[in-house]
Amino acid sequence: MKHAIASHWLNFIDGAWVDGERALTVDNPATAEPVASIALAGIADAEHALEAARHCADSGWLSACRPAQRVQWLLRIAAEIRALTDEGAWVLCQENGKALRDARDEFVEAARYFEYYAGIADKVEGISVPLGNGYVDFTSYEPMGVSVQIVPWNFPVSICARSLAPALAAGNAVVVKSPELSPLGLCVLFRAIERAGLPRGAANLLCGLGSEVGAHLVSSQKTDQIVFTGSVPTGQAILAAAARWATPSVMELGGKSAAVVFPDADREQLLASVKSGIFFNAGQVCSAMSRLLVHRDIHDEIVAAVADMAGALESGAGEDDPDHTPLISHGQLERVQAMCHAAIAEGAEAVTGGDRQGERSGHFMQPTVFAGVRPQMKIAQEEVFGPVLAIIPFDTEEEAVEIANGTAFGLVAGVFTQDINRALRLTRRLRAGQVFVNEWYAGGIETPFGGVGLSGFGREKGQEALYSYVRTKNVAIRVRQD
Ligand code: NAD
Repeated sequence: MKHAIASHWLNFIDGAWVDGERALTVDNPATAEPVASIALAGIADAEHALEAARHCADSGWLSACRPAQRVQWLLRIAAEIRALTDEGAWVLCQENGKALRDARDEFVEAARYFEYYAGIADKVEGISVPLGNGYVDFTSYEPMGVSVQIVPWNFPVSICARSLAPALAAGNAVVVKSPELSPLGLCVLFRAIERAGLPRGAANLLCGLGSEVGAHLVSSQKTDQIVFTGSVPTGQAILAAAARWATPSVMELGGKSAAVVFPDADREQLLASVKSGIFFNAGQVCSAMSRLLVHRDIHDEIVAAVADMAGALESGAGEDDPDHTPLISHGQLERVQAMCHAAIAEGAEAVTGGDRQGERSGHFMQPTVFAGVRPQMKIAQEEVFGPVLAIIPFDTEEEAVEIANGTAFGLVAGVFTQDINRALRLTRRLRAGQVFVNEWYAGGIETPFGGVGLSGFGREKGQEALYSYVRTKNVAIRVRQD
C-alpha cells in the first residue's frame, strides 16, 4: 500500500529527533527522482550521540537493570516494528529501489531479531570454575559499553536490527550510523524504538558521511566497540582507526561466494537457488552466489538453463514487485557496467546481459550471466555487488575445491549434489563462514553468520552473536579455611 513520505527526516539523538545545518537528498533508484531529504549529521552530532550513549552506559540504566526488563523492552520494540512494517516497507522500497515484498521482509526480519534476542537476554549466564579448596571462581558477562554500528545500504533495516538487538539485549548503549544512500527506513525503525520507551541515549541514529561522521565515531576513545558491515576497503580503514585505542571490532565484509554443482544436482532446486542467489536484490547481497562452478559434464546444459531464466526476469520499480530491481545509484551502475565490459575484454562470454538497461531512467543493470570464465579473471576474483554471475567449469572435486577457495574472500559457499558423502566432505573443505547444501540462503536469523579472510571476522546472528556484545570477567576469590 502507498504511504505519504515526509519531505524531511531527522536524526535521533539522546531520545529526541534532531535537525541539522546541512541536508542530504535521498533519490529513488528506479526513477533517479528525489524521495525526501534528511538532516546530515556533523561531528557535533556525533559527539552528542557518543556522550548520550556514554551517559546511558555509565549510568547503568541498561546494564544494571534486571535482564527481564531488557526482555520487555526488546519485545516492545519488536511489536512496534511490526506495527510500522507497512509504512516502513514503503519508505524503504522508494529510497532503496528494492521490491516492496523484500522491503516488507526486512522489517519482519528486524522484528524477529528483537524477538529472538529477547528470548536470550535473560540467559547470558557465566560459569563457575573449580579451583579446588580455598577458592571460589566465577565468570560473568559484562556489556562492552558504547557500541558503534556502521550500516550499509543494501539491507539497512535488517542489518541494523541484526547488531542492535543483541547489543541492547546484552546491556550496551548504541550509536548507529546509517548509510547515506538509504537512511530513511532506519528512521522508521527508530520510531519503533522511540515508542518502546527505552532509556534516553540507549539507541541513537545518525545519518552522516562515512568519511566524516563514520571516521570520527570509529576513531573516538569514547567508542567501546565497532560493528561494521560494508566493503573491504572501508573495513580496512576502520580497522586502522580502531588500532589507535585497540577498540574491539566485528567486521562483516564482502564476498565472492561459489556454488559447486555436480551432475546429480536436483535441477529445480538448483535453478531456484541461482535465481535468488544472484538476482535477489539485484545481486546487491554480500553473500550472493556470484560464482557458479559447474561440472563439465553438465556445463552447457546448466549455462543454457541459467541464461534462459536470467533472460526472462522482468525489471521494474520495487513497488510493482518485479523479478529484477535497479541498483542503488548511478555510481554503482557505472561500476558494475565497467566490470562487465572488462570481463568481456578479458575473454568472458556474456550469454545474457552484460550492460545497463539503457531504455530506463533508473539505475537498471541487465541480469548478466558470463560463461567461459577462468578462475583468475577479475570477474571471478572481485566482488561485483550486482546481478552478475560468473560460470566456471571444473572436472574433479579437487579442482572444484581449489577454485572455490581460490579468492581472498570466504563468506559463504554452496554444494549441489544428492550424494551426502560428497556434500559433507565439501562442507569441511570449503573455506567459508557458512556452507549451504542444496539451497542457497538456507539458514536464518538463528544461524551464525560471518566470514573468513577478507570477508571479515566475528559472528552475527544466532546465539553466538550475543557473545560479540559482551566481555568476559573472571572473579577469583580466596576463601579462608578456618
Ligand atoms: P561501504 O563500505 O561503502 O559503506 C558502508 C558504511 O560505512 C556506510 O554507512 C558508510 O557511510 C560507512 N563509511 C564509509 N567510510 C567510512 C569510514 N572511513 N569510517 C567509518 N565509516 C565509513 O559499503 P556499502 O557500499 O554501503 O555496502 C556494500 C558492501 O558491504 C559490499 O562490499 C558488501 O559485500 C558489504 N556487505 C557485507 C555484509 C556482511 O554481512 N558481510 C552485509 C551487507 C553488505
